Order: sequence, then structure tokens, then C-alpha cells
Amino acid sequence: MSTDQTFYGSDFGALSSFDPDIAGVLLSELDRIRGGLQLIASENMSSPEVLTALGSTLSNKYAEGYPGRRYYGGCSEVDKAEQIALERCTALFDAEHANVQPHSGASANQAVYGAFMKPGETILAMSLPHGGHLTHGSKVSFSGKWFNAVHYGVDKETENIDYDQVTALAREHRPKVICAGGSAIPRLIDFEFFRNLADEVGAIFWVDAAHFIGLVAGRAIPSPVPWADVVTFTTHKVLRGPRSGALVCTAEHAAALDKAVFPMMQGGPQMHTIAAKAVNFKECATPEYAAYATQVIANARQLATSLGEHGIRPTTGGTDTHLSLHDLQGVGVTGADAEVRADAAGIVLNKNAIPFDPQKPNVASGIRVGTPCVTTQGMGTSEMVTIADLIATAVIKGDADPGHAVSQQVRAEVSELVTRFPAYPRP
Ligand code: PLP
Repeated sequence: MSTDQTFYGSDFGALSSFDPDIAGVLLSELDRIRGGLQLIASENMSSPEVLTALGSTLSNKYAEGYPGRRYYGGCSEVDKAEQIALERCTALFDAEHANVQPHSGASANQAVYGAFMKPGETILAMSLPHGGHLTHGSKVSFSGKWFNAVHYGVDKETENIDYDQVTALAREHRPKVICAGGSAIPRLIDFEFFRNLADEVGAIFWVDAAHFIGLVAGRAIPSPVPWADVVTFTTHKVLRGPRSGALVCTAEHAAALDKAVFPMMQGGPQMHTIAAKAVNFKECATPEYAAYATQVIANARQLATSLGEHGIRPTTGGTDTHLSLHDLQGVGVTGADAEVRADAAGIVLNKNAIPFDPQKPNVASGIRVGTPCVTTQGMGTSEMVTIADLIATAVIKGDADPGHAVSQQVRAEVSELVTRFPAYPRP
């Protein structure tokens, strides 16, 4: 190891002698990740290469502006990082323009409002309880406080997007922006439908692809890029990059969106994170990543089916993506209870409202599970059958007490599984 690594990468030895409290948290978090099954659909495990770029001196640099037109001196090197990230991002998604500065998915979404809407104007988006996102016009978010949000949902029978309702609401409200995408949508979205509707009513078509962009990058599902005016996304979900955001758009809207990201919504870009995004985009262009994205979906399908065989019903009957949403009413357990029982057994998942949920959101009738992490660990469909067995045992027969016999038994089996498929394997 070169001594310079201290300065361009992370030096854990120095940290642990200076600040054992925080070094201890870093270690115990790694132990936590390694010790259990991570089934949160929005999480993943970035590569050591991505983590190295994140822990670099690029974090120090102020670089307000864009490559070649900054408000600070000394940007020659960070300009290179951002330029590489931009080129790789546009190539990966066959996009006309990219902006890699958004600090997060929510920041990228703010830029869409900033570029296209004035306070009080109307956005049409998926409702939060049916799978949308807070930034799509929820009353507790800036988007619902400052804009007039009209929401569509899913059809009661199919539990898939109610396209007739979307059409009716768009014709009635003539929104400025129509948004597709959300946090708990297991099925593919008909982007062509949304494009045609947006054209009919004169709206901007925005896809929030935060959840599924990694599957698009791996060419495992159809891309929204040819259809949408703008596609925002997070970089840390299936995509497996650093915790951050980005957007791609048509050339027509490039200037408006760039101005909305900076200076309208953000200050200085996080250049270490932008470098880490560049590393991630390079990873995503490999055949290994494409195989990973395909396996994520195969695993999610198997997990959904196997949970269904235990009476833990997948909404919409299954999934086309990396996540499935399950209705627990048939097994008489709430989402909140399922979450703590699974956690007590070493399985991390989240409670989730299901469409038309009779429970309050903090109780919920469902759980959401996703396969990005376990697939990164190298697990395949046969392990998904095992994981479904373990979830069903923990949720249906288990307890919130980690000392309960069922929690202990499931935890032992989880341990055996993650020993065979370790997260961040030791060299
Ligand atoms: N959009 C969608 C659909 C999301 O699922 C999320 C986060 O889960 C976001 C936006 C916000 O991303 P972030 O947490 O990075 O702000």
C-alpha cells in the first residue's frame, strides 16, 4: 500500500486511533450488514472502488458551477471527474444530456419542479399510499405544500396503475407536469402511454426512476429515456453507486434543468460523490453488471412467488422488477409486527402500505422486499426459496423478542446463509 493512500483514499487505522467512537460505529455497521439478510428494496452494497472515491480529497473542493465554468479556481482536476461522470452517464442511458450534481433523489426531483413549475401549478403523480413518493406532491413535502398535486392510484382488481384514471385526471386538470414512478411499484410502467398523454394535454413527462434505474442500466427492463422529457434517479439503489442522485433529459430541457440544480436548488457539488458516480457508471457498463441486473429480477420473481406460497400474497400477483409488495392480511399479521419479527430473526425488511390499506401507514398491512443486496452477495433463485421460508417462519410464527426460540432458530439459518454468501467478503 502506498503511503499516499492515506490522502487519496480512506485510512481506517488513523481514524480508529483518533476517534475510536466513530471507528467503532463503522465496524459495527459492517458487522450488522454482514450478519443479517438485507432485503430493503432501496439499498445495495457499493463496491470498494466506489467507497474509495467517496473517501477521497475531492470532498474538499468547492466547485460551484459546471465543468469549464466554475465560480472557484483550482477546479482543473474535479472538472475531469465531472466530465467523465457526465460522459459515462449519457452513454449508459443513451441520453442527450445528464446532470450528475443532485445530492440525492429528492434534490433531483426538486430540480424538476424548479425547471418546469411555478408555485401553485399542477402536477399529476402517483399517490404515496399507492406506491408514489413524498416528493411527488405529498402534503408533508415541499412538493405538496407549494404545488397543486393531483394523484392517481392503482386499479383495485389488478393493483397495477389505473391508466384510465390517469387519463381522466390529466384531461380534467391539464397538469404542467405528469410524473411516473415511485417507491413501491413492482410492475413495469407503460412509458409510451404517459408520453402520448403528456403530449395530448401539453404536459412535461417526468419519470422518477430512482428505484428501477439500475435495471435500466443493466438493460434488464425497458428504458424511460426515449419517452420522457426528464428522468431523475438515485444512484444508490439497484444501480449500486454512492448515496446520491442524478438526472438525464432531452437537449431541449438541458439548460433549464442545469439552472434548476445549480444555482436554484443546490450550492457546491459534492465532487467526491460525483467521482464515485463516475466509477459506478463504469461498473454498470460491464457485462457482469448486466448479468447482475437480470439476476436481481429473477431473484425478486422467485422470492415473490415463494412468499405467496406461504400465504404472504404478492400484490399484482408478482413482480417485473427488483421488489415485491406483500399483503399480510391473509396470515393475520400487520406490517409493523412483521418488520420487528423479521428483524429479531436477522432479516431486515420494511413494513409498507399496500393499495387500499385499511391500516394506518405506521402499522400497514404489508411488507416490501427487494433483492439488490442479496444478489450482490451472489445468491440465486434457490436461496430465494430459502429466504422466503425464513421470512414466513419469522413473520408468521416468530416474535419481536430476539430471544424467542423461533427468532433464534431463523437467525441461525440466516447466519449459515450469509456465511456462504458474505457481504463485503474478507480477502
Ligand atoms: N424518488 C423515489 C421514487 C424514491 O424511492 C426515493 C427514495 O427512496 C427518492 C425519490 C428520494 O431519494 P433520496 O432519499 O436520495 O432523496
